[in-house]
Amino acid sequence: VADHRGRRLAALADALDAAHLDALLLSSLPNIRYLTGFSGTSALLLVAGREAHLVTDTRYAVQAVEESGDVARVDIQTQSLWLGLWQQLGALPQLRVVGFESMQLLHRDFQRLLEQGDRWQWRPTVEFVEGLRERKDPEEVEAIRRAGRMATDALGELVPQLRPGLTELQIAGMLERALREAGSEGFAFPTIVASGPRAALPHARSSAREVRAGELLLIDFGAQAGGYCSDVTRTFVLGKAGEREREVHDVVRGALDRAAAEVRAGMRGRDADALARHYIERRGWGDRFQHSLGHGLGLEVHEAPRLSRQAEAPLPEGAVVTIEPGVYEPGWGGVRIEDDVHLGADGPEVLTHFTRELLELA
Ligand code: ZN
Ligand code: ZN
Repeated sequence: VADHRGRRLAALADALDAAHLDALLLSSLPNIRYLTGFSGTSALLLVAGREAHLVTDTRYAVQAVEESGDVARVDIQTQSLWLGLWQQLGALPQLRVVGFESMQLLHRDFQRLLEQGDRWQWRPTVEFVEGLRERKDPEEVEAIRRAGRMATDALGELVPQLRPGLTELQIAGMLERALREAGSEGFAFPTIVASGPRAALPHARSSAREVRAGELLLIDFGAQAGGYCSDVTRTFVLGKAGEREREVHDVVRGALDRAAAEVRAGMRGRDADALARHYIERRGWGDRFQHSLGHGLGLEVHEAPRLSRQAEAPLPEGAVVTIEPGVYEPGWGGVRIEDDVHLGADGPEVLTHFTRELLELA
């Protein structure tokens, strides 16, 4: 398997040069994992030129060296990561201007920089590493594809077991068990099972509500493989679907089919969003599709790029994004269908395969 960490660190070093920064302090764990491979939950990373210094605590003494020892100098601290940071910085006397991740650093820690780190000039940076993460390496796409297969396999296990009378939480538990059995390391986010009128809440939490016959059942969930997430939604009916359930499902499915086939790298995020939005508008449900069409997917379940009405930036080649149109009617319910798509040089490739037909479950 190709190791891309050296290239990523070099790309970051170039970006720091261009921004006239001598170094960057990273506190975002997904960014640290992307650059070094370290998957623990406590770390600071200082990148200065081609050198990376990872500071973590004693719980990770073995793991940090195993995961990151070949690309970063690993410093194990017993009391505070910040002590380690001051030591690392002090050992690099040529450093003067150091960036920090302004969307990732707690205010309390920013105060530390001002009070204990007053020998350095601190500059806020935004999305340096997040920008690098948008274009996926082939191995990253492969991990998302694996996570996608785990998700659809688990859904295939779940569907024959669905019955009226189960609660949303029971269904979430059955699905999460199937995800674990399929090999998922964790859950990309808390599984959403929303039934009946609750399916109108685009970001519902699973509840103790019992699912009834004839109702919509929306399930939005994801697996994790090698740290990478998948994100899949299907909406079912338990029993026979009514006229409106069929109609709305057909509209959402048509929007997904169209957007997943026509989305391209190089297209602005807002134009990708419009592929689905215009379709839904033409079919008369435009005012019921109120969220954005999709988001980037990777080490985090929501990352750059965005597919929304406001997204001016072009979608980078190599990105993996979700396509997730939805139509919601308060008091009635909602339908969302979501797949994950890789934006390759030769066009879009869907990474999650599960029927988009409306399944009426006995
Ligand atoms: Zn989702
Ligand atoms: Zn999503």
